[in-house]
Amino acid sequence: MAKLTPIPLGVLVTRLFGELELRKAAFDLPARRFASADPARDLSVSIHGHRASTPFGPAAGPHTQLAQNIVLSWLAGGRVMELKTVQVKDDLVIPRPCIDMQTVGFNVEWSQELTLEESLEEYVKASMLIEMLKEMLKETSKEMAKGSGVAPGFGDTVFDMSVGYDLAGIRSGRVRAFMTAMLDAGAVVERLRAEIPKPWARLRDLPFATRISDTLTLSTFHGCPPEEIERICEFLLDEIGLHVVVKLNPTLLGRGELTDILRDRLGYHDLVVPDLAFARDARWEQVVGFVDRLASRARAAGRGFGVKFSNTLVVENHKSFFPASEREMYLSGRPLHVLAIALVRRFRRAFGDRHPVSFSAGIDAGNFADAVALGLKPVSVCTDLLKPGGYGRAARYLAELSARMGAAGATDIDSFALGAYGHAEAALAGLTLPDGVAASCRAALAEGGDLRAAAGEAFGPWVSAARLLNTETYGERVLSEERYTARSNATPPKKVGSALALFDCLTCDKCIPVCPNDANFSLAIARGEIAIERLVPTGSGFAVEAAGVISVEQPRQIANLADACNDCGHCDVMCPEDGGPYLVKPRFFGTVAAFAASPDLDGIALEPAGGGLRMHARFGKRTFVVESGGPRLRYTGEGFDLWLDLTDPRAMVRPDRPAVRGGEQARVSCC
Ligand code: SF4
Ligand code: SF4
Repeated sequence: MAKLTPIPLGVLVTRLFGELELRKAAFDLPARRFASADPARDLSVSIHGHRASTPFGPAAGPHTQLAQNIVLSWLAGGRVMELKTVQVKDDLVIPRPCIDMQTVGFNVEWSQELTLEESLEEYVKASMLIEMLKEMLKETSKEMAKGSGVAPGFGDTVFDMSVGYDLAGIRSGRVRAFMTAMLDAGAVVERLRAEIPKPWARLRDLPFATRISDTLTLSTFHGCPPEEIERICEFLLDEIGLHVVVKLNPTLLGRGELTDILRDRLGYHDLVVPDLAFARDARWEQVVGFVDRLASRARAAGRGFGVKFSNTLVVENHKSFFPASEREMYLSGRPLHVLAIALVRRFRRAFGDRHPVSFSAGIDAGNFADAVALGLKPVSVCTDLLKPGGYGRAARYLAELSARMGAAGATDIDSFALGAYGHAEAALAGLTLPDGVAASCRAALAEGGDLRAAAGEAFGPWVSAARLLNTETYGERVLSEERYTARSNATPPKKVGSALALFDCLTCDKCIPVCPNDANFSLAIARGEIAIERLVPTGSGFAVEAAGVISVEQPRQIANLADACNDCGHCDVMCPEDGGPYLVKPRFFGTVAAFAASPDLDGIALEPAGGGLRMHARFGKRTFVVESGGPRLRYTGEGFDLWLDLTDPRAMVRPDRPAVRGGEQARVSCC
């Protein structure tokens, strides 16, 4: 199985800026898919006092594991990065495959696969790459610069760390060291600064942030007792000094309401939530008990406290996609959206709008603006970014939000809450306001005037009242929307019935953007037929024997970068052909060390050698090395060691001119 191997900063910088210049793309995301700022609207939100230029971000998960993923999320318009959850047990073996997007979205992938130290470095690298990108995009063409962090005020980004999963682990020295280093990553920044390659040496002088993050979303085990959740939050607020958001489980709805929504209304009759999930997870009344306590404690410490809806929903593994060892799996996507909105509704009924609510559950271009209208922030996404187009899908979220704001006559997110569902008037009616303020607000509403100026200090309460009404309206609406039902989400991606081979395929390119790690890529190779010749030992040398042809018909071929591929299996689901691109297509390793560390995987690694190149290759667990550079090419493997004259390779294998130096003679295939 492939092991994720972080790509060094110098390699990422070279790749990123080389690709921007040559291909007008970044990590395979075309510049035309970069998110754009709307000069007419301010999409910014405040996250615990930090300005984020948009409320959108990738959810903690596959899109925030590696530095390049976070950069891609940023280019797609993400300004709140919910970093993948880390924990003290950082040597877990995650079952494979681990992401099932055949229908609504399931996974068994819940924890960072890198070590704590590697995760820290990935997050610092990502932060630095984003700063470098902002600088470089200023210097590039207008097409690429269009709003991508260059437009004034569109580049502000918040990194939100996430730790799990119990008090003992979170208090451990290593997790504590991770959080402390995220608060002050000066030493890591200085070390990485020196790794910025020479052609971009001027970027070494950028004032990179050393406080990577001071906000944290707590992810607890399904089944973590509420008292323990409270103790963890206290520790994070008081001892580490972080703003804290606690991620809550959909089981909070209770068996009755959850079943009513999931099965009776939406029709997901095949999904069974184990009894144990309800028995072990925090219950509603327990959560209600600690929310106000923790919020007061945070206020006293000068920190923020909020909740997040929602964690994934644990269901019985009734499918055959994941290994049979996995008795449970985690539901995401559209049905989770309806459940999480029901939780927001219930939470708001209990607490009003006095606690920040962050949201991640089944968000897509069709509902992102609605979640923003409810005052949820950030609104983060995972499942939809795994669909065809990948990160490139996100630009539509912001475009749709801008369009909805335009239709509501809103120029910022707060005024959008007032206009989104036409509740501004009703929200006003529920407030007790000083003389004249309500009249001035109504006049501004009628005339399309400045609502903020008209309301003065009442603007905040007015927006809050509108958010509560919006929550009721939207909460009711999603319960009957067809797009969330089982029948609307039952069709898996289309398969055409052909089997993938090493070379050639439909070349639809779907497997490239759907990979959260950008592990699949395409490369151009010459079309034609290449003869395979087998060298047969004759006693004094080799004879040449024809052994078929390799045929390459497509101008571009798909390949896989093993270092960035964690065998999640997702590109297999999205590929119209059978076999899985990550398993069948040529696999490249970034370094010889990574190649050597995966002896069970076929693949290729290239390294400089003298003035030329040395290629290490493994096929069927047999390893070969080809070395070029001078007039002769050296080809070695188990039992043979050949030098081929590149001007006349066949001459080297004449029986009278032994070409073998050392090792036993064996049959050797060349092409
Ligand atoms: S491997 Fe599959 S998904 Fe990728 S380009 Fe080929 S046919 Fe399309
Ligand atoms: S290449 Fe495929 S299997 Fe590998 S990480 Fe990407 S999506 Fe997953």
